[in-house]
This record gives sequence, structure tokens and C-alpha cells, in this order.
Amino acid sequence: MTIRHNAPMPTEIRHYMRAGQHPSRSVACPFCRALEHKPCRVISNGRHLAEPHPARRSAWAEATACCPHCQVEPGIPCHIDGVPLSQVHARRLLEAKETAA
Ligand SMILES: [Zn+2]
Ligand SMILES: [Zn+2]
Repeated sequence: MTIRHNAPMPTEIRHYMRAGQHPSRSVACPFCRALEHKPCRVISNGRHLAEPHPARRSAWAEATACCPHCQVEPGIPCHIDGVPLSQVHARRLLEAKETAA
């Protein structure tokens, strides 16, 4: 006997409802090269990681949020005195989280 708990949902909706799914997965990971919506992985053995790499969170914040610290728009890297940073400011990550929530 088969009991169906839930009607099948479209993949898109299921993606956003899955617990623990970090919104930064909507961008590719510049560190391990995981594609959009794919989990980060350990480069040496290919195992999937539950948490995205910091570089991915940074790339996600850069793509989706303005930085309250250096006043740049989405898509523009953070900078200090005009020198681009490889990671975004911590406040920009918070901004991105609030936008995604
Ligand atoms: Zn990664
Ligand atoms: Zn910044």
C-alpha cells in the first residue's frame, strides 16, 4: 500500500521550500564552480556540502544587494578607496539576507 503525503509540487517551488537551502545557491559558486542551484562540493572528492562556500555567499550578496558600507549597487564589487575587494563587506551580506527573507 502506498500512502501519498503530498501532491507533487513543481520543482521551482520545492526548491525554495526545502529546509536548509541557502538562497546564495541561486548563483554559481566561484570557489568550487558549483552551478546555479547546485550544492557546493569538496573540490578534492566531490562530496556535497550543506553550507555554501563563503565566496559564494559573497558573490550572491554582490549580485543581489546594495552595500550600505561603500554604497555600491547590485553587481558592483565592494571596494575600499576605489580598490575592489574579493569579498563583500559583512553588512552587505546582512543586507542580502534581509532582502531574501
Ligand atoms: Zn562552493
Ligand atoms: Zn561594501
